[in-house]
Amino acid sequence: MSIQSIRGMNDILPTQTPVWQSVENTLRSVLESYGYQEIRMPLLEATELFSRSIGEVTDIVEKEMFTFIDRNGDSLTLRPEGTASCVRAGIEHGLLYNQIQRLWYGGPMFRHEKPQQGRYRQFHQMGAETYGLAGPDIDVEMIAMTARLWRQLGLTDLQLQINSLGSTAARAAYRDQLVNYFSSHYNELDEDSQRRLQTNPLRILDSKNPNMQSLIDNAPLLLDHLDDESQTHFATLKTWLDELGIPYQVNPRLVRGLDYYNRTVFEWVTQQLGAQGTVCAGGRYDSLVEQIGGRPTPAMGFAIGLERLVLLLLHHQLQIPDKTPHAYLIMAGPGTLQQGLRLAESLRDALPHLRLLTHCGGGNFKSQFKRADKSGALVALVLGEEEMAQHQVTLKYLRQEHPQLRVGLAEVVDYLKPLLQLSNE
Ligand code: ATP
Ligand code: MG
Repeated sequence: MSIQSIRGMNDILPTQTPVWQSVENTLRSVLESYGYQEIRMPLLEATELFSRSIGEVTDIVEKEMFTFIDRNGDSLTLRPEGTASCVRAGIEHGLLYNQIQRLWYGGPMFRHEKPQQGRYRQFHQMGAETYGLAGPDIDVEMIAMTARLWRQLGLTDLQLQINSLGSTAARAAYRDQLVNYFSSHYNELDEDSQRRLQTNPLRILDSKNPNMQSLIDNAPLLLDHLDDESQTHFATLKTWLDELGIPYQVNPRLVRGLDYYNRTVFEWVTQQLGAQGTVCAGGRYDSLVEQIGGRPTPAMGFAIGLERLVLLLLHHQLQIPDKTPHAYLIMAGPGTLQQGLRLAESLRDALPHLRLLTHCGGGNFKSQFKRADKSGALVALVLGEEEMAQHQVTLKYLRQEHPQLRVGLAEVVDYLKPLLQLSNE
């Protein structure tokens, strides 16, 4: 039997890469326009990095990590997310202490989940992190940046949900209330939630089990128990979002699946992807840097799930950039190959954005024309013996009613230029 890819880990095929590239380019250019700089971290980290940052009693650390012992006996984990690695790298290279950093990253993440639409075992995120800023101003700027991303991509149906998780102390007080409440309804809790009751009761609020929803809806709200500073922070955040004209919904049940968040948390959600509706999620994590061994540094960040974004874009049938070749060079007859390859190189010199396929592998005119047609090219450039003798090429338009032309080698560029503008990039 032939070898197959690992379950939940997908190949992204040439028919799909144009939309991926377009999404990635848009995200990159918006991130850069806000002054974010790229950082690239390894895919493998010490397991302890994630158990210490994401939290021992979270879905990710409890059951989703790809963890193994390497040849030296060390426990390593394929990164399930980027924030922990980014903090680790920031501390390791002295980027964080007493500095303001705006960083972004992208790439594959790994979680051993049940594969379904919008949920995979290898998936891709692009994320941004800001260090050294504690106020709601940067929270608002980061949310505004995500809103701009959706506008740039032409997505209009994403809703912003926000919440505040308050300070560590406020959350601890609230935790006790929550334990009391859920304990008095112990028999209505599902197995996961019963287990979480003592270890991580806040995560019960994040349960996706529909049978638990009414119980969760009636639970006490953290928003009602915020400390004063967090309350002011949240109020300012809302006012400034209003001023920027960014609509939001306060969702008091939004707790996020990772332990490290405090104060502002947010998600962008869509109704169009079923249960996998969260396209972007983030929040403030002021204690994480210290928790991983750095000096106390306020931090705020978010991550975008690219598969979900791509699914959403395909859903909208947005125009996908066309990467088919502009021209296909056909060569037949003695000496034409040599001359043709030279011509192709000179065309690429003159037109850096030209997509030109040269026919390699020989064959007669007819078979080469078939290939040219199949490639999707707009025009075939034909170099036969006759053309070569006269220092010319024949131009045959493959997608337009247009008589074929004979043009001098030096003029070919002028005929190709308009094609570059015509195709939708
Ligand atoms: P969910 O509640 O859907 O499991 P999450 O809270 O675990 O999401 P985060 O850790 O916040 O997700 O990751 C940020 C984003 O990355 C998510 O909003 C989603 O778009 C994407 N994402 C997370 N897990 C997966 C996955 N297994 N497959 C595809 N995308 C994912
Ligand atoms: Mg998850």
